[in-house]
Amino acid sequence: MRNTPAMRRMTMAEEPRVTCPVCGATEKEKDFNPENGMCSRCWWYLSPEAGGVDHGLFMIKVQTYEDGLRYAEIRPRGFWSGTIEVRERIDRSYDSETKMQVESWEVRVSWGGGGTDGTLDEIRTAENFTRSMDHAVMLAKIWKMQRNG
Ligand SMILES: [Zn+2]
Repeated sequence: MRNTPAMRRMTMAEEPRVTCPVCGATEKEKDFNPENGMCSRCWWYLSPEAGGVDHGLFMIKVQTYEDGLRYAEIRPRGFWSGTIEVRERIDRSYDSETKMQVESWEVRVSWGGGGTDGTLDEIRTAENFTRSMDHAVMLAKIWKMQRNG
């Protein structure tokens, strides 16, 4: 996009921002909690309650719902948020021969383009995405193996 005079004026009017020491992205000063020592996006993964892990190339947070189904969010470095998800679910189908409801565990890996935070160049960002995808696929295989014995 071309940097028009109108855009330049908007940039100048922006609120003061703080650079996060963990991910390197900036956050509005009013949203940044110095006690956490990181931006709110990193805090979503890495706070003690979140129990997430920073693997360097990506952050991952795994939650277990009340029904026991697990859900992982993965945020590759260079992305704002959880761009890749691994989600357990139960597929229910009807077997017409046995006339029984059949349940099977499935694990879905999904991803979005996500928004990049501008801290890395595009190739590094893409590389981190693929590393995160590798991890997501591995996690999905492990979960599926655990469920299907
Ligand atoms: Zn951060």
